[in-house]
Amino acid sequence: MRNVFWKNIRNNMNMQKTDNSKKQKSDSGSIWNPWHGCHKISPGCQNCYVYRRDESIGKDASIVTKTGDFYLPLKKNRQKEYKLQPQNGSVFTCMTSDFFLEEADEWRPECWRIQWILDTRDQCIKYHVPFHFKQTGTFFVMNGKTYHIKRWLQQSQAAKAGIDYDGGKE
Ligand code: SF4
Repeated sequence: MRNVFWKNIRNNMNMQKTDNSKKQKSDSGSIWNPWHGCHKISPGCQNCYVYRRDESIGKDASIVTKTGDFYLPLKKNRQKEYKLQPQNGSVFTCMTSDFFLEEADEWRPECWRIQWILDTRDQCIKYHVPFHFKQTGTFFVMNGKTYHIKRWLQQSQAAKAGIDYDGGKE
C-alpha cells in the first residue's frame, strides 16, 4: 500500500497503512484525509480496507472526492489550538486514498502550500502582518535537507533563521 505522512513541518512522506479502525479512531487528531477514494493497481490492493469499509456503507471507493477536511490543518479549536495535532511527531495523511492519485493533481498544490512556513511568511509580508518564527519543530527541512532538532534548541534555531517580519514598521 502507498501512503503519506508528514513529519511536523509536514513534508516527509511514505508510510504503511494499518488495517485497524480502532487505532485510527483513537489517533484521529493526527490524521488528515484531504480526499477519499483510490484505485486498485496491484495484487496488494486486493484486500484494501478502504474498499471493504466503503462497500459496507454502499459507497464506491473508486470515486475520488475532496473531503470536508481539506482545510483541517488550518482549523483551530476553542482553545485556539490547531485541531490537527501530530502524534509522536507525525501527521498521517491520505489514510483512505493515495496522495499522488491523478484525480488529486489539481488539489495537491494547495496541500503543499498549507503549514509551509515560508509561504506563510510571504503572505504576511504581502499584507504587512507581523510574522514571528517561534520554533522549528523536531523535523526541520531547509534547502532540501532534514534536520533533527532537539526541543531545547528549537527556539534558538528559529531565531537564527532570521526570518521574522515586523509588519513593515517604519
Ligand atoms: S486501492 Fe489504494 S488505498 Fe487501497 S491498497 Fe491499493 S493503493 Fe492502497
